[in-house]
Amino acid sequence: MKKRITIIGSGFSALSAACYLTQSGHEVFVYEKNESIGGRARQLKKGGFTFDMGPSWYWMPDVFERFFADFGKKTTDYYELVKLSPAYRVYFGIQDFIAIADNLEEIVSTFESVEKGSGNELRKFMAEAKSNYDIAIKDLVYRPGVSPLELITLETTKKLGQFFGNISKDVRKKFKNEKLIQILEFPVLFLGAKPSDTPSFYSFMNFADFGLGTWHPKTGMFDVVRAMETLARELGVQFFVNSNIEKIIVENKIAKAIVVNGERIDSDLVLSGADYHHTETLLDSEFRQYSEKYWESRVFAPSSLLFYIGFDKKLENISHHMLFFDTDFDQHAKEIYDDPKWPEAPLFYANFPSVTDKTAAPDGMESAFFLIPLAPGIHDSEKLREEYFGKIILRFEQLTAQSVKENIIFKESFCKNDFVEQYNSYKGNAYGMANTLLQTAFLRPKLKSGKVRNLYFTGQLTVPGPGVPPALISGKLVSSLINKQFLNE
Ligand SMILES: Cc1cc2nc3c(=O)[nH]c(=O)nc-3n(C[C@H](O)[C@H](O)[C@H](O)COP(=O)(O)OP(=O)(O)OC[C@H]3O[C@@H](n4cnc5c(N)ncnc54)[C@H](O)[C@@H]3O)c2cc1C
Repeated sequence: MKKRITIIGSGFSALSAACYLTQSGHEVFVYEKNESIGGRARQLKKGGFTFDMGPSWYWMPDVFERFFADFGKKTTDYYELVKLSPAYRVYFGIQDFIAIADNLEEIVSTFESVEKGSGNELRKFMAEAKSNYDIAIKDLVYRPGVSPLELITLETTKKLGQFFGNISKDVRKKFKNEKLIQILEFPVLFLGAKPSDTPSFYSFMNFADFGLGTWHPKTGMFDVVRAMETLARELGVQFFVNSNIEKIIVENKIAKAIVVNGERIDSDLVLSGADYHHTETLLDSEFRQYSEKYWESRVFAPSSLLFYIGFDKKLENISHHMLFFDTDFDQHAKEIYDDPKWPEAPLFYANFPSVTDKTAAPDGMESAFFLIPLAPGIHDSEKLREEYFGKIILRFEQLTAQSVKENIIFKESFCKNDFVEQYNSYKGNAYGMANTLLQTAFLRPKLKSGKVRNLYFTGQLTVPGPGVPPALISGKLVSSLINKQFLNE
């Protein structure tokens, strides 16, 4: 039967759920507090420069394809993808970098040239990573995290040990060269925890990296937001921006309405794609499922200090994605997770979309995005942002052997306080709750409220976890649960 469903937020998970729920015949209304949709994947346009504000790595293209196929569509119906070659560069010192090719064979040769025998080890490592990918991304992540039994399959029982080992140990067992170790530890950083706290089974991220490659939607990640919005509108979803939800109204333990900019809007069901912790604050305390102590005890993905920068010239020695691992990886990880403070010598990431996409910057100019991961909940101030900008831009100049500071004609920062203020993000986390062993699958916050009927959650704090592909899957999972409930009524 057709139901009226309101969705809080318009990030990828909310957009995905909106599409699935409308396809099932429901009437769906999406309310977004900000002036544009897309959540953390919003776009910033200024002075002729265009920046994706959040995600920039398009990994796991099969997940996007599977999403659109559910609606009888293909990604190419909406956007064009470019496979990046090289996928990315990792800097370890002045003009000392390793470029990761767009195919495994070349990556194997690169490894072999750095450490003898490592090419063969990489082949074996990748075979296991692929097998984990086939189990995890083609099957397990599409289970709703309702029961521990979901994880018990013929394949996972054979790999039980991999849930108790960790990526860091595995990589170190096979590879000795520190540079190669860091390259292989990098993909699981997307899951929000230290490699030493990330189960071995998550090596499927390495297959996503080396096996499937790094892609770029032709005019940026926002192409995907636009595509999903177009699909949603084609299906009949209605969008409302500048619509802050102030309260979820519960009557007789049933979610009955939301309050948007002071106005009550009734519906049959409320689904929140906003940060879980924030959504619970929209409920009277008796209806919250998780205490402050619970949230406090969880491992959150890092917050970030970001800079969106326009340069008035073309830069040298750059590639689309660049990782700067020229400082101590473990020390920075400690300063994020174990002893939260501003890092002494931060690792950082820089992204130059205008290398691939001519629309990202005016002719003869370059657009860039710099990111330093930080501990969630850290003190944030303009002074600290500037101090750290000074540190990384100097390093960038030294490592890539050029001067660029005087060529900055546009610069805007975004940090913890903005994550809290703009997305209601718990402690200003940038990408949700980490996928550690104890925060995986059924151990993550639930898609369905156990206290309020007709209240559901989706997004990076729920299953399967952080990242754009998981957000698409989360929207599908919650929609199935909702439809199951309606079928049983
Ligand atoms: C800097 C950065 C880099 C990243 N890089 C990558 C990457 O390269 N690749 C990748 O796959 N992933 C990346 N991620 C992670 C990825 O972007 C997220 O996991 C994903 O976009 C989260 O989607 P979501 O639907 O869970 O939530 P969100 O995108 O957070 O959407 C939630 C929405 O709810 C809205 N909202 C909150 N409160 C209210 C309210 N009261 N009323 C109305 N609306 C409300 C918010 O404004 C927001 O629009 C990155 C994230 C960041 C921040």
